[in-house]
Amino acid sequence: MLRTVAAFDRMGEENAFAVLARATELAQQGRDIINLGIGQPDFQTPTHIVEAAIKALKDGHHGYTPATGIKPLREAVAADIHKRFKVEISPDLVFIAPGGKPTMYAAILMFGEPGADILYPDPGFPIYRSMIEFTGARPIPVPIREENNFAFSADETLKLITPKTRLLILNSPANPTGGVTPKAEIAKLVAGLEKFPDVAVLSDEIYDQMTYDGEEHVTLLSYPSIRDRLILLNGWSKTYAMTGWRLGWSVWPAKLYDFARKLAVNSYSCVNAPTQYAGLAALTGPQDAVKKMVAEFDKRRKVVVEGLNKLPGVSCRTPKGAFYAFPNVKNTGWKAKPLASTLLDETGVALIGGPDFGILGEGYIRVSYANSTENIQKALARMGEFLEKRKAA
Ligand code: PLP
Repeated sequence: MLRTVAAFDRMGEENAFAVLARATELAQQGRDIINLGIGQPDFQTPTHIVEAAIKALKDGHHGYTPATGIKPLREAVAADIHKRFKVEISPDLVFIAPGGKPTMYAAILMFGEPGADILYPDPGFPIYRSMIEFTGARPIPVPIREENNFAFSADETLKLITPKTRLLILNSPANPTGGVTPKAEIAKLVAGLEKFPDVAVLSDEIYDQMTYDGEEHVTLLSYPSIRDRLILLNGWSKTYAMTGWRLGWSVWPAKLYDFARKLAVNSYSCVNAPTQYAGLAALTGPQDAVKKMVAEFDKRRKVVVEGLNKLPGVSCRTPKGAFYAFPNVKNTGWKAKPLASTLLDETGVALIGGPDFGILGEGYIRVSYANSTENIQKALARMGEFLEKRKAA
């Protein structure tokens, strides 16, 4: 019992959900809230995808499916990987899960235990560290630095590997920074990893279709030397605006695939059938909605970066991926978390303080541009007014 309580005490959360709850509460009290805290596209799922789910329900797809997902969907994922990256993956190594999170949950559970070290990006998606802590493994942060455009550094990462290191977690394009790690750096990291054959890799590529300025996404799947220890996390949530459907895919090394299946059988059994048919329509249907959404994010990205750089004490690098900016607010005189919560209370603008993504997030805030340009401009004006006033005070 005690051990369980301690494990749950170590487990963290995602503060974005708490901010969302607080923002909703304020909106219900009649406050005019602009939510730049949220990590989901502000678009509807494309109609043909919704219709495929409705059709699946009408056609009687109401029962369990295989725990690893329906075969046509696993085949469609393999075909999509081939189309986009020219990499051959057997559909038998593709796993369908309720979102991207279950993949990190399963991977971290498989490798984490007391005495083991797991490397994860800081600042980074908060669930990595939370789950590492839960398993009793030691979380070892890999610093993600502004001066490196929020890409991870191969040298710095490799230096942190010890005989205790079991798993290395990577994320590009990244949450919360929007950083994209260049191909040369990824190649350098992979070459270095060849010296550490016992270190598994979890590559979270859930934002892979959201890159800008001609930046090319490089998947870790394209490196055969680490394929037998690579877990690739991806999914439909961001690309197809399907966060609430709960649908993700992953690629596993053959030796781990059955462990992932067992974890699924012991927890959720399978993803609900109609959602899997929706996912199939997403991959095999027209991709214009994805292109349109990414083009819209690109426009907003420019508005956000330009606007943030005009605010007193704020400077912001141009993010190359995802839909987040991660401005430096050190010269505002505010700590990041009090700044985010005071901005919400006093101006109605919801943002997430950088420390919610790790110790190295201090001095930054995450601005999600999954909101209309008009709202983004309004939010920037409110933030500007607030910072001017507070600077003068
Ligand atoms: N990985 C990263 C980097 C994310 O930002 C998110 C969601 O915000 C996820 C994984 C989880 O995705 P899902 O909602 O599909 O579980």
